[in-house]
Amino acid sequence: MTAKTFPRFFFPDERARSVMDVDYEGLQEGGIKAVIFDLDNTIARWGDERLEEEIMELFERITSMGLRVAVLSNSRRKDIENFIEELPFPHLFNANKPGKRGFRSILKELGVTGNEAAMVGDQLLTDVLGANRVNMYTIRVDPIDPEREYNFTKINRLGEKFLLCLREIYRFFRSWRFTRR
Ligand SMILES: [Mg+2]
Repeated sequence: MTAKTFPRFFFPDERARSVMDVDYEGLQEGGIKAVIFDLDNTIARWGDERLEEEIMELFERITSMGLRVAVLSNSRRKDIENFIEELPFPHLFNANKPGKRGFRSILKELGVTGNEAAMVGDQLLTDVLGANRVNMYTIRVDPIDPEREYNFTKINRLGEKFLLCLREIYRFFRSWRFTRR
C-alpha cells in the first residue's frame, strides 16, 4: 500500500457497519497479518464490563484464520480492562490515539509493520487518523451506541462532522471544475 497524502490521513480506506461486517478474509488476501481493534463503541458499549460472546467468537475466528488480534484503547476503565487483560491478545489502554507511540508499541508487540496491519475503529480523529499516520489500513465502523460516549468523544464527533463537510465541499468543487472543462 502506498503512503497516504495529507487529506487522506483523516479518512478510512473503507467503511463497515460493524466489526461483524468487515471482510477479514479479503484483508488477509491483501497482505494484512494483524487486526487492531478500538474498544469503546467498536467492540464494547460504554459501561460494559466484559466483551460480548459474539466478539469473543469473532476474535477466535480471526485468529484461527492466522491473523493476529490486538486491542488499542484510549480508555482508562478498570472494569473492562481487567477482563481484557485476561485474554491472550496484546492490548494497550490509555493509548493516546491519534499519537503514534501507542500504535508503534502494539505493532511491535504483534511483530508486524504498519503496512501489514489494519485498524478497526469508530472515530476518525483517534482511530483512523492515528492508524493512517503509521501507514496502517483503516476501517471505520459505525459506533455501537452513539448516545453513550465520553464528553470528549462528543467533541471529536463535531470535528468529524466538520471534516466530512469539508470533504463534500472539496468534492463539489472538484466535480464542478471537471464539468466546466
Ligand atoms: Mg471508540
